Amino acid sequence: MEPRLCLDDLLAQSRTVGFDAAGVAPVEKLTKNRKVLEQWLAEGCHAGMMYMARNIEKREDVTLLVENARSVIVTLTNYYTPAAQPPTAPLIARYAYGKDYHIVVKDRLRQLMQALGDIPGRCFTDSAPLFEHEWARRAGLGWIGKNTLLIHPVYGSFCFIGIIVTPLAFDRYSRPVEASHCGTCTRCLDTCPTGALAPRCLDARRCISYHTIESKDPLPEDIKKAAGNRLFGCDRCQEVCPWNSRAEKNRVPEFAPDPAVLRLCREDWLAMDELTFKQLFCDTPCERAGLEKLRNTVKEQCD
Ligand code: SF4
Ligand code: SF4
Repeated sequence: MEPRLCLDDLLAQSRTVGFDAAGVAPVEKLTKNRKVLEQWLAEGCHAGMMYMARNIEKREDVTLLVENARSVIVTLTNYYTPAAQPPTAPLIARYAYGKDYHIVVKDRLRQLMQALGDIPGRCFTDSAPLFEHEWARRAGLGWIGKNTLLIHPVYGSFCFIGIIVTPLAFDRYSRPVEASHCGTCTRCLDTCPTGALAPRCLDARRCISYHTIESKDPLPEDIKKAAGNRLFGCDRCQEVCPWNSRAEKNRVPEFAPDPAVLRLCREDWLAMDELTFKQLFCDTPCERAGLEKLRNTVKEQCD
């Protein structure tokens, strides 16, 4: 009989490695999700994120990423911190306060693969064409909220998703979350300063996060106005979500914000040199944006 991994073992080992929650789903083709994505792309909602239009067949079929894939293991890592910047400072989204999650989560995924018996497969942290939220839902970790994010009933949405695709099967699989628990709430839709959200659909052309993180272009006038002093990302549609009202401080030392970063004011950004930027933001998501883009955003917001 072929060897099978044990779900209970996965749950125990994932806690030991430091994940807050984990689950596993059997591999299936995600044809419905592909159709929704194609419609979203046809409407131009991906803005300049051309990578969203590439490798659609891999997104639909994970066996094109890992040959003979049987199981998709999904992990969540809470990154919430109550630490905050002064309200008038150039604001950085919470996910970017600490060390880059690509590094931290991937390292833990590798540890988990080892702990499960050095299992074959590949691990991904927002680093491959995958329907991460849908796999997390199928792995029993939450539902996809009207703000398009995965919402875990305990940890809310301030979580990073990590994925391992393996050719091994499990003795049993997690129960997918079928129901949305957004109910009649529309807080995220109502509060978005640019009207970028429709239920479970984000128009990146209007999203402050897209314009301040991904786009290389200057902020469009209307977005600049709505962004106010948001320098890198936007947490608004998460901050208002009632499922985040009991969010607890994360337990990842690498995500602890540097107090010097929290204190940065507009003048500090305008006067910052590359050496200081490196010292403050080495291995953080902000490093990937680069000083020039961030300083230009601060300048534009001063105009
Ligand atoms: S990140 Fe900000 S701009 Fe983007 S959808 Fe959420 S609230 Fe709107
Ligand atoms: S704010 Fe309300 S509608 Fe939006 S994701 Fe949270 S629960 Fe759902």
